[in-house]
Amino acid sequence: PYNKMMADEILRKRMEFLGPSIFYYYQKPLNIVEGRMQYLYDESGKRYLDAFAGIVTVSCGHCHPDIVNAVVEQTKLLQHTTTIYLHHAIVEFAEALASKMPGNLKVVYFVNSGTEANELAMMMARLYTGNLTMLALRNAYHGGSAGTIGLTALHTWKYPIPQGEIHHVMNPDPYRGVFGSNASSYAKEVQEHIAYATPGRVAGFIAETFQGVGGAVELAPGYLKLVYDIVRQAGGVCIADEVQSGFGRTGSHYWGFETQGVIPDIVTMAKGIGNGLPLGAVVTTPEIAQVLSQRIQFNTFGGNPVCSAGGLAVLKVLDKEKRQTHCADVGYRLIGRLKTLQQKHEIIGDVRGRGLMLGVELVTNRNDKTPAKSETLVLFEKLKDLGVLVGKGGLHGNVFRIKPPMCFGKEDADFLVDALDYAISSL
Ligand code: PMP
Repeated sequence: PYNKMMADEILRKRMEFLGPSIFYYYQKPLNIVEGRMQYLYDESGKRYLDAFAGIVTVSCGHCHPDIVNAVVEQTKLLQHTTTIYLHHAIVEFAEALASKMPGNLKVVYFVNSGTEANELAMMMARLYTGNLTMLALRNAYHGGSAGTIGLTALHTWKYPIPQGEIHHVMNPDPYRGVFGSNASSYAKEVQEHIAYATPGRVAGFIAETFQGVGGAVELAPGYLKLVYDIVRQAGGVCIADEVQSGFGRTGSHYWGFETQGVIPDIVTMAKGIGNGLPLGAVVTTPEIAQVLSQRIQFNTFGGNPVCSAGGLAVLKVLDKEKRQTHCADVGYRLIGRLKTLQQKHEIIGDVRGRGLMLGVELVTNRNDKTPAKSETLVLFEKLKDLGVLVGKGGLHGNVFRIKPPMCFGKEDADFLVDALDYAISSL
């Protein structure tokens, strides 16, 4: 029953009718026509193990029946009017989401994407503090809009437009960072940056606890605790971007920031929150939320009944299927096997991450950590041919990002590692 249009024709039309900035993966791009939990199918019916989940977007699994059902039932009843009228779905979802948050984080704004969530968070930080300067990390990705592009710190994504009053501090990257895992050295640098390069007062600090696009980099342990203190002393608020790392994916905790023992002032989310639905959220304290009561803040589709019903179903599925524990179990096995593979193959410079939020960095020389760019590309194609889809990231494009739907099992982990072993062996 698949649509008859084949990959070649789709690509030709895409090049003619869609913007040239869209990029695609693989020499011959994949035409994916169906998804079932952790598996995807192309036009010929070939099955792929999905270890990237549409860039960490599919949390529960492709076409998870509970979520499909929630969306279909709500769509049949009422798709959308406007958030000016009341609807039970939006408050049920907001209440359920707030119940997952620590501290006084209980006021939710629904939006449609991660970019929008970060735009709103940045605006709130500036309005609440009365300061303009935002601090972000090098190697971060927070969005591609005119505002968030300033927060993003990878030249490959940055268009040359005004970047706003935003400064990037050193990335506390344990593998490549100049201070290794020494959180206090990186924190000291933030303190000095505020003293020398800002008016001494800042609006806020934003970070992903596990950098996604930047290549699955887990921040040096203890870093956020130190930096949150420094930023708050300089009058700023602390924002955690949980667009990729939330909802139990790290296994040890529900939210990425909890792995660093901090409670942010504002949390942004998207992607996995909707298992594929266009949905994002900003959660903050009642006190900070109050700053947006001085004018109208309106979003036509944010929190519409269909996305709210779907989002609530996602939260329920993750609890019912105990996905956080599952991510810890499967992740433990996957990391263990990848580390064993690292001992066998020189090209694997680093294996990192937690739960089902992992990175494998490839280098041609372990001492210099020279990025194995072309080898990564070859392996990436080879893995696809073997039926395994992973992500690729990092500034040099030499990191495999392994972030599958959270239903990914131990057999899938074994298959992935065996395929990687085979691919590297035949390099
Ligand atoms: N924050 C992070 C950490 C992301 O990975 C992304 C998307 N890759 C975004 C924000 C932006 O989300 P969206 O593409 O939904 O606007």
